[in-house]
Amino acid sequence: MSIYTSLGSVSEYVINCTKCGNCQAVCPIFKETLHEVGVARGKISLVEYLLDGKMEMTDGMADRFSLCTTCMACVANCPNAVPSDKIILAARAEAVRKRGMHPIKKVIFKTLKLQRLFDFGMKTGSKFQGLAMKRIEGKHYGARLRFDVGLGKDKVFPNLAAKPFRSQYPTVVKVANPKKRVGFFTGCMINYFYTDMGKAVVDVLTANDVEVIIPPEQGCCGIPASVNGDVASAKALAKRNLKAFEAMGAEALIVSCSSGGTAWKHVYSELLEDEPEFKALADKWAAKTYDINEFLIKVVPFNKEALGPVNRKVTYHDPCHLNRGQGINKEPREILRSIPGVELQEMKDPGRCCGMAGSFSIVHPDLSDKIADKKIADIAGTKTDTVATSCPACRLQLNSGLVNAGLNKDVLHTVQILAESYAQGKKNNSH
Ligand code: SF4
Ligand code: SF4
Repeated sequence: MSIYTSLGSVSEYVINCTKCGNCQAVCPIFKETLHEVGVARGKISLVEYLLDGKMEMTDGMADRFSLCTTCMACVANCPNAVPSDKIILAARAEAVRKRGMHPIKKVIFKTLKLQRLFDFGMKTGSKFQGLAMKRIEGKHYGARLRFDVGLGKDKVFPNLAAKPFRSQYPTVVKVANPKKRVGFFTGCMINYFYTDMGKAVVDVLTANDVEVIIPPEQGCCGIPASVNGDVASAKALAKRNLKAFEAMGAEALIVSCSSGGTAWKHVYSELLEDEPEFKALADKWAAKTYDINEFLIKVVPFNKEALGPVNRKVTYHDPCHLNRGQGINKEPREILRSIPGVELQEMKDPGRCCGMAGSFSIVHPDLSDKIADKKIADIAGTKTDTVATSCPACRLQLNSGLVNAGLNKDVLHTVQILAESYAQGKKNNSH
């Protein structure tokens, strides 16, 4: 019995909540709304009523469960270690079982499952994006929607790549004497939008004599479906990815997206709990999944000899699902501190949620922007020219907030700065 298949599965967690209210102090939703239902404690009370049969799931209640970025700040601040994020995800799955899926989400998740159709749509979209999007002039990478369709009229979205990342590379990127053969799970944002991040991952891995396998059959990680309670779609996507990587074989799996990492390390095993064959496969791959920062520190320590100088003053934003979800926060900083020329300056509260949270920012664009404003103010308090992070979704949110605040800063994945350093090192050595 998993959180995705039964609300009863979280009853043992719910009883541990003493309603102390510690979660209020850190919840980004509560800070903006000041409503009890925004905070973990309020949502746990609703789940208690549902479990006791004192209330029934309604559409209004389902909306309240959508008010959460799953940032896990409440979990980290809870004296009783109540996994509120899991309770909320279980409630969302229950809402879909009881009330059905919103028709627009239904279409989106169905398309995500039909990889070829989705791929065709994204490729076609890249050709015609100018009709719906207005490019931002200057060096910033992005565009705003020409029409307000409820996604946030000022949001700056990245441009759709003319050619998806996975179409740009062979299935195996070989190196002369491989130390390891790894699979690279790209996720959708890197494949269709931030191909520069994917290139940096491949450049850094090959610079460290690691062969990279990019299975063409991989697709969406399934997190958008699982956090919205569409368990059937999430399961289908998990199985497709597991089969795609199992067919190619690899000693490890590399992820450079915090949600993708969470999917492979934690969510697939839980989603597939009642299917023993796939559960075993999910457990096997979970044990050999690494975030790129983690891999370069713990598995194949990156070569510091070949680094060249990069002149950047950098502050680092911790993605929630990497920091609290996977316990990875020292590794990206260690990488940044190793790069000659990089000056790392911490912002106030680098682990504060940026408010993106995938589909949360689409369902609640105004709230998402308000949460981002606090993060942007923290960044503005530093004397830096670059914001580093380790997640494409955070990159989108931070870039949008910075552009709208008139702040001229690059937003890059840690590995992009490392790739710059290797490129500079190569250039220096060839002179
Ligand atoms: S979830 Fe944890 S922090 Fe929040 S009220 Fe319950 S026990 Fe307290
Ligand atoms: S996971 Fe984050 S947004 Fe959701 S209730 Fe906890 S602190 Fe609030």
